[in-house]
Amino acid sequence: MSNPKHQIPNASEQHASVLEIDLAALDHNVRYFKKKLPSKTKLLAVVKAFSYGLDAIEISKHLEKQQIDYFAVAYTEEGVFLREAGVKTPILVLHAQPANYETLISNQLEPNLYSSYTLQAFSKLATAKKLQEYPVHLKFNTGLNRLGLAPNDLPEISKHIENTAIKVVSIFSHLAASEDPNEKEFSLRQIEAFKNCTAQICSLIKHKPILHMSNTSGILNYPEAHFDMVRLGIGMYGFGNDAKETAALQNVGSLKTLISQIHEIKKGETLGYNRAFIASEPTKTATLPIGHADGIHRSLGNGNGSVKINNQHCPIIGNVCMDMIMVNVTHVKCKEGDEAIVFDSQQMVANLAEKSDTISYEIITGISQRIPRKIIS
Ligand SMILES: *Cc1c(COP(=O)(O)O)cnc(C)c1O
Repeated sequence: MSNPKHQIPNASEQHASVLEIDLAALDHNVRYFKKKLPSKTKLLAVVKAFSYGLDAIEISKHLEKQQIDYFAVAYTEEGVFLREAGVKTPILVLHAQPANYETLISNQLEPNLYSSYTLQAFSKLATAKKLQEYPVHLKFNTGLNRLGLAPNDLPEISKHIENTAIKVVSIFSHLAASEDPNEKEFSLRQIEAFKNCTAQICSLIKHKPILHMSNTSGILNYPEAHFDMVRLGIGMYGFGNDAKETAALQNVGSLKTLISQIHEIKKGETLGYNRAFIASEPTKTATLPIGHADGIHRSLGNGNGSVKINNQHCPIIGNVCMDMIMVNVTHVKCKEGDEAIVFDSQQMVANLAEKSDTISYEIITGISQRIPRKIIS
């Protein structure tokens, strides 16, 4: 993964589309979650996948000034990207893979050791490199069945935690359905399982590792799972569990573009690939420089999704192209060069998600890196 800013020099001068990032809104959201937590509870900010598609460097560098205890990324390369930008805060790599351990160590990134195999591999490498108490994190599977150690890995764990080349600085797990009140019983069982595993490991080591289990909806729904630290992701970017929580949060990312061209098409004429739109009346259309390669799902075409121009909803008509969409502006006062808003509120993101049969996470993480990011605050 190379720096997108290196791929497209002066991108903002070349591209009409822009993803604006409101750091004041981000600060508001961080404060909102901090207020929900006891003051001693540490905060880990999840900045994987370019900070949920927004801007990992700008957001991490900004958060670094606001007493964030930890960052988390998914992959080693994402952590290297932050280190190269000068981020100094500890970074947990949630899905660190043995092939990248050398890179990880040389960038002072901290691996999640999620299996007997990764624990052995890292412990062996740390010994060979004569490291001293290199910080590592153990992840337990308590029901998500994605990544994590199991109780029957305990004998293997006890062998390695005596190795002074590594130090278990945290133990964590991940809730499978923390947003779903119908799954409360399952979540409570996960929390119990986590307490049991951590009690056993903590009895084997002298220091007290940081325990953590909650993502955004865990913070909101399970105070009993706050432990020593929480991992805040989607909530920081403005999305809570439900409409009420979301209303208390502020929108961080806004995706905007400019009208490239306006066409007046006659009744019976068609528009776009496969002639998917047929004008049933004289129709004014606006062509926008953003398409499925930018994260506008193809399923939003043919009247399903819309953008906002001069405060009016304009349906996307015809098929979504790779680099463009066309919208119906028959009844909207607008001209070439006017602004079109793909989303500037959490509700608009939620609508796009619903119409393309996905969740807000996928809408924001799917905004392509060719769209320049612009920081506003
Ligand atoms: C992505 C992720 C999070 C953040 O989840 P949100 O629902 O966005 O708050 C926390 N923990 C782990 C292990 C993750 O992979």
